[in-house]
Amino acid sequence: MSGQVTIINVDDNTPARYAKGRILSRAGFTVHDAANGTDGLKLIAEHNPDLVLLDVNLPDVSGIEVCRRVKSAAGGASVIVLQISASATAAPQATAALDSGADAYLTEPVDPDVLVATIKALLRLRKAERELSTANERLELVNRELQRSNEDLQQFAFAASHDLQEPLRTVTSFVGLLERTATAKLDGNEREYLNYIAEGSRRMRTLIDDLLSYSQVGQRPASLQTVDLDAVLPGVLENLREGISGSGADVTSGPLPCVIGDEVQLGQVLQNLIGNAVKYARPGVRPVIHVSGSRENREWILSVADNGIGIENRYLQVIFGPFKRLHGREIPGTGIGLAICRRVVEAHGGRIWAESSVGYGSTFYFSLPADFGGAGRDRTAE
Ligand code: ADP
Repeated sequence: MSGQVTIINVDDNTPARYAKGRILSRAGFTVHDAANGTDGLKLIAEHNPDLVLLDVNLPDVSGIEVCRRVKSAAGGASVIVLQISASATAAPQATAALDSGADAYLTEPVDPDVLVATIKALLRLRKAERELSTANERLELVNRELQRSNEDLQQFAFAASHDLQEPLRTVTSFVGLLERTATAKLDGNEREYLNYIAEGSRRMRTLIDDLLSYSQVGQRPASLQTVDLDAVLPGVLENLREGISGSGADVTSGPLPCVIGDEVQLGQVLQNLIGNAVKYARPGVRPVIHVSGSRENREWILSVADNGIGIENRYLQVIFGPFKRLHGREIPGTGIGLAICRRVVEAHGGRIWAESSVGYGSTFYFSLPADFGGAGRDRTAE
């Protein structure tokens, strides 16, 4: 490290300056000496040093002022300034020196080993700072790239799913026409093929519609209003009426809070989670589902608990990815519901996760920020 390190040694006391210069040269640093503040500033501008060893008491410009000028010059913040002064004036000068931007302070007489060790420690610190800031810059760059490519991808998904709808509509409507008019003329095999086409195009339609809603969730910024989740729930259950009454599901809820967010999107989250709780019931077991909310520090935690088939631990994260499913066609679905939930919750500044026990049931949780200057209400504690 010391080979390339340049130090400007500023001291008006010739023997002291000479002594420090020798110590530093011996330690392997490249040293330039200056006998006053003005010369010191000139050498600093000329050599762009790594460190300035600065006597506080200089005859022309004080060491404190030299330090201030060095630190405020363009690029000067990265030059390390080590101030040195007589011990008699130490405390107030140390404070003034450090306030003016000095990185460290030593008092005379300075032990040579301590001086070199202090300089090496300061250089190490600066190196670590530089590495950290380079790493931060890289991280920022990667983040910007990632955000851009995410936006591109989202735009692409939106455009592609939107554009695919039209030709697919043509296919499905003509397949429908054929089913109605030509079935009688077809033999068994042909009818089967037509069924495959019809089923395939219906499935593709669902996938495209889901992809479209997934990409739209991210595009539309959540509109922020007070949303009374207690009032949202009945509408959600009404939308799920068929599945709930068909399975005989018992859906209960504790008091739910008023939160800040987009009513439609938050309703959609509850609907997807409760819908799944009904859909992934254990065969022959009546679904028992409980929706609740509680306040934890600066968040509301909403949960939907079921007594369904459960999910293996290793899939608890995967299921939130788009089109990720743990089932085949025996249970209908495209695997987009939880991905939409995650998008909505994250766009609201929250998190979503699940806990589960195979054969006993699952609980899906999502958090929403509760700290909106008093807006939103904790009814769960009433
Ligand atoms: P879909 O229901 O259309 O498959 P989701 O994104 O809603 O898509 O769910 C992804 C997968 O997570 C489901 O295929 C299912 O395997 C699993 N899953 C979701 N909710 C539950 C639940 N309550 N109990 C058990 N498994 C669930």
